Amino acid sequence: MSAPVIQGWCPGALRPMLSGDGLVVRIRANGGRLEPDTLRCIAELARSFGNGLIDLSARANVQLRGASEATHAPLVEELRALGLIDASHEAEARRNIVVTPFWAEGDGTAALAARLADALALPDAPQTPGKFGYAVDTGPAPVLGGISADIRIERDASDGLILRADGSDAAVPVAPDSAVPAALDLARWFLASGGAPAGRGRMAAHLARGAALPETFRSLSRRNAAPAPAPGPLRQGFLAAFAFGQISAETLAALADLGPVRLTPWRMILIEGTTTAPTIPGLITDPADPLLKVTACTGAPGCPQALGETRALARRLAPLVPQGRHLHVSGCTKGCAHPGAAPATLVATAKGYDLILNDTAAGNPARTRLTPEALTPSALFPTG
Ligand code: SF4
Repeated sequence: MSAPVIQGWCPGALRPMLSGDGLVVRIRANGGRLEPDTLRCIAELARSFGNGLIDLSARANVQLRGASEATHAPLVEELRALGLIDASHEAEARRNIVVTPFWAEGDGTAALAARLADALALPDAPQTPGKFGYAVDTGPAPVLGGISADIRIERDASDGLILRADGSDAAVPVAPDSAVPAALDLARWFLASGGAPAGRGRMAAHLARGAALPETFRSLSRRNAAPAPAPGPLRQGFLAAFAFGQISAETLAALADLGPVRLTPWRMILIEGTTTAPTIPGLITDPADPLLKVTACTGAPGCPQALGETRALARRLAPLVPQGRHLHVSGCTKGCAHPGAAPATLVATAKGYDLILNDTAAGNPARTRLTPEALTPSALFPTG
C-alpha cells in the first residue's frame, strides 16, 4: 500500500488544495464569526463556483468544495469583495487562528483575535510552517485544549491573560496589549531555536525534542477546562452540528436568516441570538444523535488518496456505537477527519478495512481485511 501524501500545509482561498471533487477553497473567517449577509453570499458562491457543498474544518474554517481552475479566480475576487481574502498566500497561511466561540461581549476576546490577525498580516510577521497556528482561548473557561494550535492565549485562575506554548504547562503572564507581541516573539523563538527544520515543525514536538522555553516561562495556575461541547442551547446562542461537518449551500443560506454565526473547531456552528432548536433540515440539534458518535473523512470517491468509501459506512455503523465511545472511519492512514487517537478507527485499505483500537489511523491494526459485513459492535469495540 502506498503511503498517503503529507502536504505539510493547509488549503487556503489563495492556495486551494485539489481533491477528488475539485479544488477545496478554505475561507478563514475573521475572528471565526460571519454576519448573515456574508453567510448568504458564501452560500451563493458555493453554488455558483463550487459544487454547493461546504465543509467545516477542525480549525473553525469553512471550505467550499468542487471549485475548478476556471472558477477559482472569480471566486477569490468575490471573496475579496467580502473582506475574506488576505494580501498574499503567505499572509493567509500565517493567519491560522482559532478563537473560542464562547466569548462574551466586552471580554476582550474579539479585540485580541483582531489584533493578532492584523499583526500576522504584516510582512515582517514570523513565517511559521503551514500547519502552525494560534488559539485565542480567553472565554469563561478554556475549550480549545484539544484543538491543534502551537501558541495559546488563555486565562489564569484570577482572570489574567497568559501565553502558553503548546506541549508545556509553563506560561508567561501577558496584558491585553502585550499578548500579541509576546505571541509573535514566541513564534520567532520557535523558528530561531530550530523548531521548523526544512520549513516544517510544530511547537509540542519541538519541546518534546528538548527545546527549552525562554526563562520567563514558568508554571502558572490555569482555569479548569470546560467539558466537550454538544449541540443544544447555550448562553451565547444555539450550537448546531452537521453530519460529518458538511453543510449544503441551502442550509447555510437558511442559517443566515437566524443571525450571525460563530464557527467552531468541533464542526459545529453557534447561532447567535437564538436558544431554540432551529427546524432547518440538515442540522443535528439533539446531543443524543448517533451521528455525533462517528467521524469520517471525504473518502472515496471524493478524495484521490482514499482506498475505500467512508461516510455511508460510518452512517450505517453509527447506531451500533456504544454510548461514550467513538468510531472514526478513514479513507487512508492519514486520518484527516480525526488526527488524534479514537477508541476505534476503521481504515480503508486495498483489501477491506483495518481496525485500529485506541490509536490514530496510522496505528497498528488489531484486525485487518475486514469486510463491511464483519463490522459488528463486538468486533469494533471488543471487551476484555
Ligand atoms: S484521510 Fe481521508 S480525506 Fe484524508 S487523505 Fe486519506 S482518504 Fe483523503
